[in-house]
Amino acid sequence: MINVDPAELDKFNKLAHRWWDPNSEFKALHDINPLRLAHIDSIVSLAGKRVLDVGCGGGILAEAMTRSGATVTGIDLGEKPLKVAQLHLLESGLTVEYRRVPLEELAAEQPQQYDVVTCMEMLEHVPDPASTVRSCAELVKSGGWCVFSTISRTLKAYLFAVVGAEYVLKLLPKGTHDYARFIRPSELARDCRGAGLNVTHMTGMSYNPVTKKYSLGNDVAVNYILSARRAH
Ligand code: SAH
Repeated sequence: MINVDPAELDKFNKLAHRWWDPNSEFKALHDINPLRLAHIDSIVSLAGKRVLDVGCGGGILAEAMTRSGATVTGIDLGEKPLKVAQLHLLESGLTVEYRRVPLEELAAEQPQQYDVVTCMEMLEHVPDPASTVRSCAELVKSGGWCVFSTISRTLKAYLFAVVGAEYVLKLLPKGTHDYARFIRPSELARDCRGAGLNVTHMTGMSYNPVTKKYSLGNDVAVNYILSARRAH
């Protein structure tokens, strides 16, 4: 059985053709991309690294990490997002290897092959996030890094990520995010430890509805990025 929810994939398949439009439903991913790229790079130093981007979607982060000098493989189970990612390479002229393969299968095929595994904004869409974390940990070399980002399960996240983003500001289609699937930092940290990863960094990603800008900081009540290292 693979760790995937077809209804979740369907949400992204339906919107995929607008993935690279910075004013589409994917605006938030475009807006946070420079911030998360800089954060990841400050921790793992991307140049020359072999990176796996899990749930890469249309490839916004995968391409950016490639530009930073990493050799990137992107995987996703969504058919259309991956097609869009592949097509966008014609426009960007970059080289990224995209594969439609279940994460758990790739973990069995390529154990400990990657310096860095990123899995951003995907854990809140899978049935068994702990299994996703375990597979990411299996793919990374000893001493390598896993970087996850997701949404916490707090009242503030419900107000910002569901009510605010989907109903008030209409940045995302209604039903994009399911509150029950949000993951608290403590829960993700526990899953990491269970997978043999040591959590080293945690940062919040906040949206200011007045300035319409995102910033990194200490507030992990809504979106956050957690980095963890596999023991040597
Ligand atoms: N990581 C990208 C895209 C996030 S959108 C970014 O942050 O820019 C979430 C992506 O996860 C979608 O492309 C969706 O198709 C993918 N996804 C959801 N469940 C998945 C699963 N079980 N396995 C692989 N990809 C999945």
